[in-house]
Amino acid sequence: MGVRTVSEPETVESVAPDSDVPTTSAAIDEPLLEVDGLRKEFGGVTAVDGASFAVAPGSFTGLIGPNGAGKSTTFNCITGIHEPTGGTVRFEGQDVTGLPPYTLAKRGLVRTFQIARELSDMTVLENVMLAPPKQDGESALRSVMPGLRNDVQEAERAVLEDAWETLEFFEIDHLAHDEAGSLSGGQRKLLEMARVLSTEPEMVLLDEPLAGVNPTLEEKLLDRIDELRADGLTFLLVEHDMDVIMEHCEHIVVMHQGKVLAEGDADAIRSDERVLEAYLGGDV
Ligand code: ADP
Ligand code: MG
Repeated sequence: MGVRTVSEPETVESVAPDSDVPTTSAAIDEPLLEVDGLRKEFGGVTAVDGASFAVAPGSFTGLIGPNGAGKSTTFNCITGIHEPTGGTVRFEGQDVTGLPPYTLAKRGLVRTFQIARELSDMTVLENVMLAPPKQDGESALRSVMPGLRNDVQEAERAVLEDAWETLEFFEIDHLAHDEAGSLSGGQRKLLEMARVLSTEPEMVLLDEPLAGVNPTLEEKLLDRIDELRADGLTFLLVEHDMDVIMEHCEHIVVMHQGKVLAEGDADAIRSDERVLEAYLGGDV
């Protein structure tokens, strides 16, 4: 996943290895995702009220906050479900504000979706095969038709192999031929992740992926995310449960009443009194 072809390295002007000057990898200066002054109003309700934060490439960033803080609305504005009332969303330095999910996915910014009704009648394997990268829907569809095993094209065979690999990675390969609709809540979450991963994204956004997931599957899902991060993927996780975020995310953004209340690592957030007060419902 995410293998890139690397061309001949350019000749590098010699730089003293012990130089104090940072090298050119300006990863932190160049956020993968940048939310700037985001606003979303629903009639008289201001759900997001000028939220700004950034996500570094390769990071596991958590977006937390009490119920009603505006996390899901922010998530939906980033992923093209809602058109923001104001502000901008930039991905890889480009303005992507208000672009639909499909267009964002093509650029590598993906979100999980609940398995739609029509997909719940299909098998787990078919679900993952239907979301392959750079392949038109017709071709993907053909590859799940009967007769597949006898007369499969090379490209389709690759899709099948990738699908199996993805299922194995999420440890749901034993469910490959079960209908998606028959899965438990937690298994569905793993399948939703598997579907998203098979599009070979740069960045994955997850809104409460652990809701209703049992502790064993929760651990599995978080382990998979950690592994994928090691592979260079970037994650933004919206979550109500602070503890999970504290344990796994190196950067945490706390929202409250539509605004970003605090940002930092787990230690900084834990010791931030405003955050505590927000969660306890006190005045901020
Ligand atoms: P969170 O995900 O942090 O719990 P939400 O983003 O879901 O918060 O909601 C933030 C605020 O916006 C809440 O007051 C909520 O009632 C309101 N809100 C969210 N979606 C809508 C909507 N579609 N229409 C009207 N109000 C909404
Ligand atoms: Mg929410």
